[in-house]
Amino acid sequence: MTENHRDTRAIHVGQDPDAAFGAVSVPIFQNSTFAQTDIADPKVWDYGRSGNPTRDAFERALASLEGGERCFAFASGMAAETTLLLTLRPGDHVVLADDVYGGTYRLLTRVLGPWGLELTTCDLGDADALADAIRPDTRFVWVETPSNPMLKVVDIEAVAALAHASGTRVVVDNTFASPALQQPLRLGADVVVHSVTKYIGGHSDLIGGAVVTSDADLIDAVGFLVNAVGAVPGPMDAFLALRGLRTLGVRMRRHSDNAAAIVAYLVGHSMVNQVYYPGLPDHPGHGIAAEQMAAFGGMVSFVVDTAEEAARIARGTRLFVLAESLGGVESLIELPGPMTHASVSGSDLEVPAELVRLSVGLEHPDDLIADLEQAFG
Ligand SMILES: *Cc1c(COP(=O)(O)O)cnc(C)c1O
Repeated sequence: MTENHRDTRAIHVGQDPDAAFGAVSVPIFQNSTFAQTDIADPKVWDYGRSGNPTRDAFERALASLEGGERCFAFASGMAAETTLLLTLRPGDHVVLADDVYGGTYRLLTRVLGPWGLELTTCDLGDADALADAIRPDTRFVWVETPSNPMLKVVDIEAVAALAHASGTRVVVDNTFASPALQQPLRLGADVVVHSVTKYIGGHSDLIGGAVVTSDADLIDAVGFLVNAVGAVPGPMDAFLALRGLRTLGVRMRRHSDNAAAIVAYLVGHSMVNQVYYPGLPDHPGHGIAAEQMAAFGGMVSFVVDTAEEAARIARGTRLFVLAESLGGVESLIELPGPMTHASVSGSDLEVPAELVRLSVGLEHPDDLIADLEQAFG
């Protein structure tokens, strides 16, 4: 039997009608513990930290969309990243892309650095630089593509080939593309991490994270830590994450179409000096993005003349909400320098102060363009 398409699996995998009452959508099992058949003999579930049926449904569906053996859900993207990194040992080394989510950089430098992990940041588009950065004790090469907020594209297949030649695993933060547009495990990555908070949740109403892998050792190690560390999502958040996941495909296509319309507007605007979007033919990663992504996503960044100009635009929109985060149905605008990327100011990851980032939502594109037009003034 051939496997169903991704849009179909998003709605059916792990989501058979409930055995007890036939509920068509997966119920919220809002309980902390489960009655056992006998001492040391749970029916299926025992305690809510180690597992919950609502969380399990979400994990099965997301594992299927990423093409992975196993997914573990977490209380946040940072909880997912922390738990994955705790599979390493003090003294181990990580190579990190030089343009990643500020919180990932902060976790590695300020939390896990003192704990004992060693870190090298690297432009993963430069094969020589990556080959130099990988050491015998390098355990992970950590990729984010498209990246945040510069929308850099990394060739996952090329990085995986290089890393695997040295016995190093590749982690891809797939938050920006989501499995609807890109499946890193199929391109050779060993692990995918997500901030479920963003496109997967999709409605700006939950914080969540996930780790997906087919690597048997990592499944054991992360599975142990899920229970030992306990950074798990509650049943309600798992339910919301699953509800978001069911419409991911249709939302990502519309996010991508809307973003393309806004990019076409921005490129022609006299006050915009540069637009960063992987769908632009002159974007340095366009060719790779066209190969490894089904569409180019909903995130757009652009540069204007001054930081003051950027602030005026960000304050001036009416539909685009001035807010951090991304991936929801409503469009958001923010200045990465003083907002999402404030934690990397003064570091290798510092971003231009004149940069504006848009999370393009699902409103009608004409209304979004009219809103930007009045904000530019
Ligand atoms: C938001 C985000 C994270 C962190 O996720 P939280 O759910 O906020 O903890 C990690 N990576 C990327 C790319 C993000 O956008």
